[in-house]
Amino acid sequence: MNVESITFSRRPARRFWGWGAADAVLDDGERATVKSMVEQLGGRYAALAPPAVAEFELRAPRVAPPASLAAMFSKTPLDRLNHAYGKSYADCARMWLRRLHNPPDWVAFPDDEPAVVDILDWAACSNVAVIPFGGGTSVCGGVEPTVGDGFAGVISLNMERLGRVLEIDPLSRAARIQAGAFGPEIESQLRPHGLTLRHFPQSFEFSTLGGWIATRASGHYATQYTHIDDFVEATRMVTPSGVLQTRRLPASGAGPAPDRLVLGSEGTLGVITEAWMRLQDKPRFRASASIRFADYFTAARCVRALAQSGLNPTNCRLLDPMETVFSGIGDGRCAVLVLGFESADHPLQAWMERSLELVLDHGGEYDAAAVARSMESEGSKEHRRGAAGAWRKAFIRMPYWRDPAVGLGLIMDTFESAITWDRFESFYQSVKLEVQTAIQRMTGQESIISCRITHAYPDGVAPYFTIAVLGSPSGDVASALAAWREIKLAANAAVVGQAGTVTHHHAVGRDHRSGHELEMPGLFRQMLAAAKAVVDPTGILNPGALYDARSRSIGKCGVLCEHSEK
Ligand SMILES: Cc1cc2nc3c(=O)[nH]c(=O)nc-3n(C[C@H](O)[C@H](O)[C@H](O)COP(=O)(O)OP(=O)(O)OC[C@H]3O[C@@H](n4cnc5c(N)ncnc54)[C@H](O)[C@@H]3O)c2cc1C
Repeated sequence: MNVESITFSRRPARRFWGWGAADAVLDDGERATVKSMVEQLGGRYAALAPPAVAEFELRAPRVAPPASLAAMFSKTPLDRLNHAYGKSYADCARMWLRRLHNPPDWVAFPDDEPAVVDILDWAACSNVAVIPFGGGTSVCGGVEPTVGDGFAGVISLNMERLGRVLEIDPLSRAARIQAGAFGPEIESQLRPHGLTLRHFPQSFEFSTLGGWIATRASGHYATQYTHIDDFVEATRMVTPSGVLQTRRLPASGAGPAPDRLVLGSEGTLGVITEAWMRLQDKPRFRASASIRFADYFTAARCVRALAQSGLNPTNCRLLDPMETVFSGIGDGRCAVLVLGFESADHPLQAWMERSLELVLDHGGEYDAAAVARSMESEGSKEHRRGAAGAWRKAFIRMPYWRDPAVGLGLIMDTFESAITWDRFESFYQSVKLEVQTAIQRMTGQESIISCRITHAYPDGVAPYFTIAVLGSPSGDVASALAAWREIKLAANAAVVGQAGTVTHHHAVGRDHRSGHELEMPGLFRQMLAAAKAVVDPTGILNPGALYDARSRSIGKCGVLCEHSEK
């Protein structure tokens, strides 16, 4: 079935210096939350004027696109600023400092796949580095045009004009979707067919299918189908050496799978232009519960029991006491488990009832009437109310709170990992201690570190840490940023040193490379280098992300992008 052609207006303007929509504002309650957070951490609250485009001095573009492609290229200051950084703490801090060392020379907006081919051809012949760009929501330096000085120039390749669902196969329940489609665009084009991709990362509104595939993103469902990996049926990627198109198959045992190399390639092997994605029917039944536990590790054991039960809750998010305060659903005295089920096919009483037996075995407490209401009827909206609803609202709005706090000198950052159950408790304690010690050493301040379990597996768990601290006694942003670099390296070393992974879903980019190099077998890094040499022989694609593009040995870096700015 061919889907009717849809014309998109240009996307709503994004805020170049922080998270989300350019016209987003905090409401009074949110402003009060930010104020109290800044003051509790020893800072001084003030309303700051956000960075303006005119405050940035951008170097003149060092290269010019050929006349045949020029209509797809922009060098407006706003476009270049929008593509200068991703959306991490460090990106936001550098915007507050009005510090911009490596803007892209140009931003290309290809109209279609042949245009992507032409742009890569020109770039490879002209020694111009290319940064594939989806929504630019990377939080690990994935889209930053910091490529070293071996290139004539650098461009960002923005995929937003490739935003359509091209084809739907209702029998196999799959769709061919262009890589530049943002989350809401995908869902709005699938909705009339009663289908959903059901991939909801926190950044859903502003990130794209291509970005999700390139970073191996995970959605906010806690178990089973949550990684984009599970939804990919086939991919199509333009590389400087040709187009790689994989075959649509439900499964295959034909040797190493090519899609597995495309997934997580972080723009270093090619530009993903489209993918066949597995879909699901829209859920009709939901059940949810919010459960309090006096002790965090007992609650974690309950999560393990649930993850190993085969019940596969869609939500099974465990907030430690401090995280309940951040989310506005607790007072810091107990841990809260947000539990949920959904199905397009069947009511969920039996699943929820068995889960609550496991909860009671572990001493959890809940409001039975609220749980019953959540299961009352098809289409119940109970999961949007109570603690689960409050958590959901905070989950979506929290990135907006961070921006002003960063401008006032706070370091607010997150890092996430995954670890097997046998090591979880010591991992949690050791990582917290090591990072807290690094924060104290670098800032001299007391910090807050909270943790939530975002994803649960039968053999382990994904802990997601949030840190908040005043970056220096004076509260200035430059000192905070300098401290953050050391804290980030310490966090990378801590999670890998404690046998975890440097990232469960945020990807490697430039900022997690020091951990990735510790974690990955050297031989595998050489295999990656060999693959890169085949598809990108001149090393123009996203140099510096994931590994050093032009060093065939994929050597050590041990630095974050800020160190290597030129
Ligand atoms: C507030 C916030 C919440 C977040 N929540 C989540 C979450 O819940 N789950 C999660 O997994 N991540 C999350 N992230 C991280 C980020 O949203 C993901 O990494 C996302 O997958 C990036 O998608 P994007 O389209 O914005 O890609 P970009 O940021 O534009 O790019 C990310 C990487 O992918 C490459 N890339 C992008 N498009 C293509 C393409 N078409 N072909 C080849 N390479 C490409 C880029 O070169 C870069 O290396 C969050 C980030 C923020 C700021």
